Amino acid sequence: MAAPVLLSHPSSLRHDTGAHPERGERLVAVEREIEARGGLGWERRESPAATVEQLEGVHTAAHVERIRALCEAGGGAIDADTLVSRDSYEAALHAAGGAIAASELVLSGAAPCAFSAHRPPGHHAEAGRAMGFCLFNNVAVAARHALDALGAGRVLVLDWDVHHGNGTNDIFAATDEVLFVSIHESPLYPGTGSADDLGHGRGEGYTVNLPVPARSGDDVWLALVDRVVAPLIGCYEPGLVLVSAGYDAHAEDPLAGCLVTDAGFAGMAALVRAACEERGIPLAGVLEGGYAGSALARSVAETLAVWGAVPAPAPPPVASDALALRAQERLARGAWPALGHASA
Ligand SMILES: [Zn+2]
Repeated sequence: MAAPVLLSHPSSLRHDTGAHPERGERLVAVEREIEARGGLGWERRESPAATVEQLEGVHTAAHVERIRALCEAGGGAIDADTLVSRDSYEAALHAAGGAIAASELVLSGAAPCAFSAHRPPGHHAEAGRAMGFCLFNNVAVAARHALDALGAGRVLVLDWDVHHGNGTNDIFAATDEVLFVSIHESPLYPGTGSADDLGHGRGEGYTVNLPVPARSGDDVWLALVDRVVAPLIGCYEPGLVLVSAGYDAHAEDPLAGCLVTDAGFAGMAALVRAACEERGIPLAGVLEGGYAGSALARSVAETLAVWGAVPAPAPPPVASDALALRAQERLARGAWPALGHASA
């Protein structure tokens, strides 16, 4: 049987952000951890560069050209958080290309699972704007490509980065072709992602925001995946599940206040894998944030271990949680009656 595929590219390390939380050492730590664990059975491949046409599936031509030109001119700051160097455009093309390749591998059946481990991350990037360390919205580019070129039909994007994926949220707000589900700490940067933001037009109900308070840990995050995300995978029946896999909800992360552990990320990964496998839905991950090097590296490794294991590890037992039950009830009363009524 084919091995799961881990996609990366050396250009990720040439996206030079200086003394910044989103820096190359993040990926160096991830690589070191995977190596220390013997590669975890994942085959390594270099990511191709996304084409400009693929980027323009979700971004404006002006945005793509602005990033290219700024990098070609030597780089600079886009906003207080987001900066580029000369080689950032190449890194960003491969980051989007890795997410696309991951989708292609799992949708074609060439790999049982795939994970794209790149920087810059992507989920804050809007159609016409870079922000929050993100230049191009890698997961959104991949989802759009899966719909337009790979026949995915419907794509569910689960964003478990601790920050709300405002870019992905907005890019797909008006379509029912993508169900965007985000668990994120609130209040926190970028300030979007209220539970009332449901999408609009044909997309109404196809945006599911699950804000959690600071200090939320494994119990809350696992319960939301168990009570809401896994059932939504069943209701929506996507042709592809993409996880915007950020690891900054980790207790050790310096940029946020949640308390998820290595085991919590392993548990979420197991729940998502089980929900996909039950229905034969391809699954791929795309790295987003995570700024405590060691915690990021361990948690990525846990995800790869769970997604690559044969046979699949059993998902952990998940305790009932009041916040998750309320979220389930709210969705069942609204766009997702099939989620049914919560029972402890
Ligand atoms: Zn984040």
